[in-house]
Order: sequence, then C-alpha cells, then structure tokens
Amino acid sequence: MNRKHVVFWILSLCWITVFSQENFKVYYQETDDGYKILADNGEFCPVSVEIDFKIENLTSSIGDIKIIEVPEQTTQFYIADLTVVDRKKALRLGFSVRYNHGDHLQEDYDTDYAYHLPFKKGTEHMVTQGYNGTISHHNENALDFRMPIGTPIYAAREGKVVLVEQSFNKTCTGEDCARFNNYILVYHSDGTFAEYTHIKKDGAIVAPGDLIKKGQHIGFSGNVGWSTGPHLHFIVFLQRFNDRETLPTKFLIGNGKEFTQLEEGKMYRKSY
Ligand SMILES: [Zn+2]
Repeated sequence: MNRKHVVFWILSLCWITVFSQENFKVYYQETDDGYKILADNGEFCPVSVEIDFKIENLTSSIGDIKIIEVPEQTTQFYIADLTVVDRKKALRLGFSVRYNHGDHLQEDYDTDYAYHLPFKKGTEHMVTQGYNGTISHHNENALDFRMPIGTPIYAAREGKVVLVEQSFNKTCTGEDCARFNNYILVYHSDGTFAEYTHIKKDGAIVAPGDLIKKGQHIGFSGNVGWSTGPHLHFIVFLQRFNDRETLPTKFLIGNGKEFTQLEEGKMYRKSY
C-alpha cells in the first residue's frame, strides 16, 4: 500500500486488571493491504480482551467489538486483519481495549469437584462467615476460615499459580482496604480461579507459573488487608471484566468420605 497516506493512530487502554500491563499488550503490524492486530500474553492463564475499533477507511475482519481469549504465555497472537478500503484516502486506525484474566464468556465449569479443606491434615477450623454472609460476603460465595496468623495453607485444588501479592502488612476495615489484600491466585483446569486471601506478609511459598498439587502447602495465613481478624478468605470464581462471579463449591470433610457445602458457624476437621 501507499505509505504516503496519513494515518491517525489512537490507542486507548482501559485496564481493569490487577496484573501488570507489561504482561499483556495489543498492537498492530503493517501488512500488504492494511494492518494486522496482535496480542502478547505473558500471564500464566488465558486473558480475555474486549476490543473496540475506531477506524475509518479500514474494514475489520471481526467487526466492531469482540471479546477474544488470548492463550497464556503467547506472543503475536492473531486477533484481526484491518483492510484498507480506498488507498487514495486517509486512514484512521485506533482501538480501545480492556482485558482481564480468564475466559469471560465461559459459563460451564466442574460443579462436582471435590475441594480439599485448605489446611493441614489433623487440624480443624471454624467457618466464621459462609456464602452470602452478613459481614462482608454480601451476594458472594466466599468462605472465611478462622485461623491464627501463620497457619499453613494447603491448596484446595491443583492448578497453576497466576499471581502472588504478599507485600502488604496493613490491616484495616472497610471495603477500600481490599487493595491492601495479600493473596495467592490459582488458575484451575476447568477455567475457574481460586483466591487465598489475607496471607501474611511474605507468606507465600509458591510463585507465579508454579504448578501446584491439591493438598500442597502454598503459604501461611494472616490478617492483612480488609480483615476484621486473623482468617483465610477463600473464593472460587469465574472472572468477568468488571467483577468476579463467585461460585459455590463442595469440600471433602472429616475422613474424606463426606462431600458437602460448608456452613457458617460450623467447625470442620480434616482427617484425610
Ligand atoms: Zn471473607
């Protein structure tokens, strides 16, 4: 194509992500008849990107807005071709993107998965707040296990560690304090994620990219971030652009033969 033509380039990024923008980018390359839109994903799980083109004198091979899933650890992942309509006229090439972990169009997941209690065999802990709890779990499928600071946390399910935040050391009450949460984020094979929250400062013994087994020791509990007392906050969720769709899960309790949803105010022992 004739490169003398004026190209107006606009790129606006709107990330509602918790991960570094250095680990994910959408960009273009010139082709014989226009441009190719590509993405690099350096995260340890798929990333969904919603792309909204702002183009003139170009046609997009995928229309105006599309949500595309970019596989983990990929570079130059093909998203779309933009083809010049009239080579004699000026072009306008722009797009805005927003992105976050996971497959945002996913609905199905393994509803029968048998989660392990996230603590050591031979110990017991009380669920002080259950699903849709009245303190902070409004409309949220989250569980709080009361445990002293420094209690070993064991993986409830196998997966890949996506993110670890363990730099904070501050405890406060109020929703704003959630930004000071320490956590371990794990991606499961069915597309769901688990977050183990409020771990103590430097309390993780796993790192992003690690494959972990069910029952593996992954860190130590704490009382960091939005928390009213030492506990482990545990959620399983499907990620959406603006929020997380938390999911109810069932756990093996006692000697491992009983399989149930956990209830607020009950003590659960892990003997398996
Ligand atoms: Zn909680």
